[in-house]
Amino acid sequence: MVDTVRIGDVSVARIEEMLTPGFDPAFLFPDFSPALLERFPILSSPNFLDPASGRLMSSMHSWLLKIGKDVILIDTGCGNHKHRAPAAFKRFHMLDLPFLDRLAEAGVAPEDVTYVINTHLHVDHVGWNTMLVDGQWVPTFPRARYIFGAKEFANWTTDGRSLRAQPEGGPVIVDSVMPVVDAGLVDFVEAGDRLLDVISFVAAPGHTDGQLNIRVESKGETGVFTADVLHQPMQIVCPTLNSRFCEDNERAPLTRRKLLDFAAESDAILFPQHFGAPHAGYARREGSGFAFEPVVWKN
Ligand SMILES: [Zn+2]
Repeated sequence: MVDTVRIGDVSVARIEEMLTPGFDPAFLFPDFSPALLERFPILSSPNFLDPASGRLMSSMHSWLLKIGKDVILIDTGCGNHKHRAPAAFKRFHMLDLPFLDRLAEAGVAPEDVTYVINTHLHVDHVGWNTMLVDGQWVPTFPRARYIFGAKEFANWTTDGRSLRAQPEGGPVIVDSVMPVVDAGLVDFVEAGDRLLDVISFVAAPGHTDGQLNIRVESKGETGVFTADVLHQPMQIVCPTLNSRFCEDNERAPLTRRKLLDFAAESDAILFPQHFGAPHAGYARREGSGFAFEPVVWKN
């Protein structure tokens, strides 16, 4: 039995790829101050800060949504057998992890997936789009429509902003993005577009220029799949903290603040891509800022 939470008629489960200590907080967040940990003790929980190494706990996972007959994956982690040379990518290099077995434990075979949504096209969000078969990168989910932001795709494939900011992402596009485009499986969306009545795509520029948030609304309940607007809970209590992988350090905190305002007002569950356990939660208003309240999963 896999733990789930519900957003109205939509069930959400987390399919883990890996959960390990990641970066040192001062590396990931150039403006990090240790005083934050003293002011907000929840941030020093072993779920978020590894006591042995002092590094931030970092999850790689897909969110699995079931809506009627549709089976949706939001973001696809790092993928197996992918050569990732840059030092910042070393945790993602030549992995051999049982991600598809964990998907099977949730009752889902690759052929069952009807949509794969990539919030943005970074190395740790597109990996399981493809897998290696007989030396070729082939779509892992052959019956799915893959949904990419049109602007995000253009920024990585036409000398766009993202490729200029992070040229090391080029091979990622070659092995994890273009094979599904070439297979004719991709539909491009813009901010404001909708999918299946309950999903809408929201512009979330800053981390990448074309990044999208995925908003789910059903029966008066709301969830937001936040991509990398939030890497860690400390960005809820300190929304000005940008990661070193954010392309635009002026727009990223504006997008983050807007998301947190929306989440607090709508009582939305936030589903980020990298939080340690329990991996999702709420932004509650506290003074002029926000507090983080972890979600409770049910099985
Ligand atoms: Zn990421």
